[in-house]
Formats: sequence, structure tokens, C-alpha cells
Amino acid sequence: MRTDQLDQHAEAEFKTVFIVGGTHGNERTGVMLVRRWQRDPTPVRREMFTTRLLMANPEAIRRNTRFVHQDLNRSFGSPRPGAAAAEPYEIHRAREIRAVMAGARARVFTIDLHTTTSNMGITLITDTAPVNLMLAAQVKQRDPAMHIYAFPPGERIDNCLRASADAGLGLEIGPIPQGLVRHDVLQAAEDSVQIILDVIDAHGRGRLRPPDPRTRIYLHDAHVHYPESRDSADAACVHRDLDGRDYRPLEAGMPVFHCPNGETVHFEGAPGRIPVFINEAAYYPEQIAFSLTRPVTLEQLLPPHRSTS
Ligand SMILES: [Zn+2]
Repeated sequence: MRTDQLDQHAEAEFKTVFIVGGTHGNERTGVMLVRRWQRDPTPVRREMFTTRLLMANPEAIRRNTRFVHQDLNRSFGSPRPGAAAAEPYEIHRAREIRAVMAGARARVFTIDLHTTTSNMGITLITDTAPVNLMLAAQVKQRDPAMHIYAFPPGERIDNCLRASADAGLGLEIGPIPQGLVRHDVLQAAEDSVQIILDVIDAHGRGRLRPPDPRTRIYLHDAHVHYPESRDSADAACVHRDLDGRDYRPLEAGMPVFHCPNGETVHFEGAPGRIPVFINEAAYYPEQIAFSLTRPVTLEQLLPPHRSTS
């Protein structure tokens, strides 16, 4: 057990924690929670840091739609030079949010609240930065039913809202339809945020013991697209035997798509892959039917031990 290595990744404490709702305007759970805490921030206050609340995409929230011009959670990369007059609303918002975070006290952590139409339960979304993995593992230790889904470096994770902070976790809860609030999902999101805040507070006090190096992490591997068709009216759909089976192993030969001609498409990919975000409504425009992950341990994702002697 390389607990010494896990220790060495315990970085300096966070002085500011942003809780962000409405990065996607039709994911109302986070919007409602942030509004509640704006009225009474007592439940999200902790001693070791300042908690700040941020409504990420007010115009999309007003319209109850995912975004206005483009996905805000893919808009935090280096801005492309171009005509300012034609600048998409989300690029403008990304710049404002970056400025707000840059103005905060050193070491900013972000909790970004999302929901999904997929059966993802409670999932912590993270990059592979050791501090985020370590904190996610600590959160999961307090609620073992949670899943941790990690993205290796790449455009998707590098352009998301959390990339503008020093560290952070995304919270995905589902299934819930877009555009509505449900009491049980609201409660699950609130409880999860409380756990994350407690873990960051304990981290700040130096009271966290190294997480279990065998903590399971689902490492993003690939998106699986719907089978090609000449027009979308003709498209296949996710097979009934796959729908809702997020985080259950997908073996070769299992049905994945139902085609309009009645045919079934079977899975032909590598063994040992775990599907997630199955039939997520927000991914229809990109034709993504589900994503595949590879289960690894926390220990496997941490960089090789560097001797300090
Ligand atoms: Zn979202």
C-alpha cells in the first residue's frame, strides 16, 4: 500500500469554494439549490473556507434550455480570436466566470451541479489531477453508493467550467428529465454537496487520512455513437436491454441498439468495459448513445512515486 504516495498528493487547502448551479440551464436541481442557499447560506458555510454561490448561465436558466448559443461547459478553453460582435453568449459568460474565480482568494475549489437523464445514480465527475481524485475518493468513502467517473486530459475536460478553478468536482445525479425538479433528486444533491464540503473542510484542517488506494474509478475510454443512418428520422435507438444499465459491465454480444427494420445491433467492443450516460438526452445532437469506461483503482491513476530523498 502506497499511503506515503497518497499523502504527498494532499496539497494546500482551499480558501474559496464555489458551488455552481445552472451551468446547463435546464438542469433545475442545481439552480434551485443555489437559489435556496443564496437566500440562506447557513447550510453551506464551513470554517476553513469561504463558500460562494454562482449561477453560471442565467439566460439559459431563464429559457429553461441547456444553453443559448453553445454548451457553456465546453466554453472554457482559450478563447479563439474573432469578431467580438458575433461572440456567443456562453463565451462571454465563460470570461466573466473566469474573472470572478480569478478574483477570489488563492486556491479555489468548484462544485459544479448537474443532472442527467441517464441512470447514473450519484456520480462525481473529475479530471485525473491527484488532488481531485483523492478528494473524490474521500467523498465516496462517506457515501459508498457514489461512483467516480474520471476523464483523462483532453478537450472535453480541459474546456469545462471547473478547469477555470484550481480544483473541483462535478456532481451528476440521475435519472431525471431535463427541465424539472424532483424532491428525491434535490435531496440527494443537497446531501452530496454537504459531504463534499465536509471533506474539503477536513482537508483544510489536515485531518484527512489517505483514501483507500483500491477505490474504484471509472476512467473514460470512448463515446459510442448511434449507428449511421441517412436521416435522423430513421435512426436506431438504445436497445431496451441496455437502457438504464449504467455501470453494469457490457459483454460482447449484448444487444445495444434497436434498428427501425427490427434488427438488433450487438456490442462488439473490448471486454470489461462499463457503459455510462446511456441514452442521455443532451447528447442526441452529437449522436452519442453512451460512453464506455474502464474500471481502474485510485492507485493506478496516480503518477509514479517520486523519491524525495
Ligand atoms: Zn449538465
